[in-house]
Amino acid sequence: DKRVWVLGDGQLGAMLRHAGQPLAIDVRPVDIMAPSDEKLPLTDTDIITAEREQWPESPLSLQLSQHCHFINGPVFGRLADRYTQKSLLDQLKVATAPWELLDDNTQANDLYHKYGERVLLKRRTGGYDGKGQHWLKQAESSTIPADWRNEAIAEQAIPFDEEVSLVGVRSRSGECFFYPLTLNLHQDGILMASIAPLARLQPLQAEAETMLSSIMHELEYVGVMAMECFRVGNHLLVNELAPRVHNSGHWTQAGTHMDQFQLHLRALCELPLMTPQVNFQCVMVNLIGIDKDDRWLSLANAELFWYDKEVRPGRKVGHLNLSVLDKNALTDSINQLKQWMPTQYQAPLSWIQAEFG
Ligand code: ATP
Ligand code: MG
Ligand code: MG
Repeated sequence: DKRVWVLGDGQLGAMLRHAGQPLAIDVRPVDIMAPSDEKLPLTDTDIITAEREQWPESPLSLQLSQHCHFINGPVFGRLADRYTQKSLLDQLKVATAPWELLDDNTQANDLYHKYGERVLLKRRTGGYDGKGQHWLKQAESSTIPADWRNEAIAEQAIPFDEEVSLVGVRSRSGECFFYPLTLNLHQDGILMASIAPLARLQPLQAEAETMLSSIMHELEYVGVMAMECFRVGNHLLVNELAPRVHNSGHWTQAGTHMDQFQLHLRALCELPLMTPQVNFQCVMVNLIGIDKDDRWLSLANAELFWYDKEVRPGRKVGHLNLSVLDKNALTDSINQLKQWMPTQYQAPLSWIQAEFG
């Protein structure tokens, strides 16, 4: 049948493989740094996708990225560099935080003058989970680090009300479909929890779909893409794009009839696409730098996805999807988790409770 190779072998690749199984799509994540003298047995009918935005050159990454069916090939470089990604948003007139490239002549004082007393520097490439960011603060007379010039952009600090994301898909023929907007809580730059769908976000859905459609069309994108946004009042500003399945879409594994992983595979394999049916509201709690706790499995409404990675501080090692079919049961589960989980989870768990309070 169909075979899809994934550039990268992290949790997203593993969840793609899992989603391929019922459709008899043979999904093969590849550790591109694995020592290998042999080539992968790729055929002309195989399809190649990626679970990461960037990758080092290696014999295996070259073999995959040079294949004639490496889908979205040119998109990765364009979106992996914040300079070209933000330029794309400006070109399409998609609202985003005001920004500029940090070059040899940029003066911190000019940035404060243009953007305000706090300015966020973001490395052009390689940043994730809030790594690769540096705040310039006028009050502290911060100066621009020399090695960030030409390697970073400067962005206005956005006093957003909250963060949301849209996960959508585009077919080769240009049809687009979307999940409902997801509400996201980040702590220290890393996603802690998501809730979707939410009736109160519905008024923003059309604006978000228009933005992501125009981006996917411009890129002639095929597959699932995620768009992270700031909600400021009744409008959205795009924070960043991810040309892949996304952490804020993990709730779809529990809450919909077709999760983001299957949706991506269907688009790649040119199988029928549609708006996924939402079965119930879900909460996703990311498991970050903590050991597996089998008590989580006793929660009646929870599904655990454990990535089986070495646990290190700040590292995503799993997630819990909780259904909100029964609000009292959700409250019980969140209260339980508060007792079982360390300090850094208290605020995100309270944030979930507040949404249902
Ligand atoms: P990811 O893991 O999502 O790829 P990242 O390291 O690429 O993250 P961003 O998503 O750009 O970085 O930023 C991480 C978080 O930092 C955002 O989710 C948001 O909470 C905060 N942030 C980013 N840009 C701004 C901004 N301009 N103003 C205020 N907060 C911001
Ligand atoms: Mg990012
Ligand atoms: Mg982000």
